[in-house]
Amino acid sequence: MGTKSVKISKVPSAFSKGDWKPIDMSKVYKNQEKQEAQDLIRYKKEIAKEEKRLEKLNCPACKSINKLHYCKRDSNGIIGPGSRSWLIEEYYICKDCGIHFSDLHKKEIALPYKGLW
Ligand SMILES: [Zn+2]
Repeated sequence: MGTKSVKISKVPSAFSKGDWKPIDMSKVYKNQEKQEAQDLIRYKKEIAKEEKRLEKLNCPACKSINKLHYCKRDSNGIIGPGSRSWLIEEYYICKDCGIHFSDLHKKEIALPYKGLW
């Protein structure tokens, strides 16, 4: 179950004026949805940018972009809800000259919000 947190930082102004109005929750949710949609767009843009950068990532020795991505993951051993896995080793192998190299500019892109995935 994902609990949605609603930002209430903008609400108190309605209280301080003295004319308290019931909060229109549909409006709150609409704003939240808008925010989430924007976050998701930003997230997708960042992913796309990172993918483009990775495409151009070339071998430090022969400059070839023909590479294999190797990554090794570990997990907490739980299958299903509560399962978690993380990267323990990651590098690229040049398909042309065979050297192993790391992506020094790797960017961690965090998911915009939790509960969807
Ligand atoms: Zn190479």
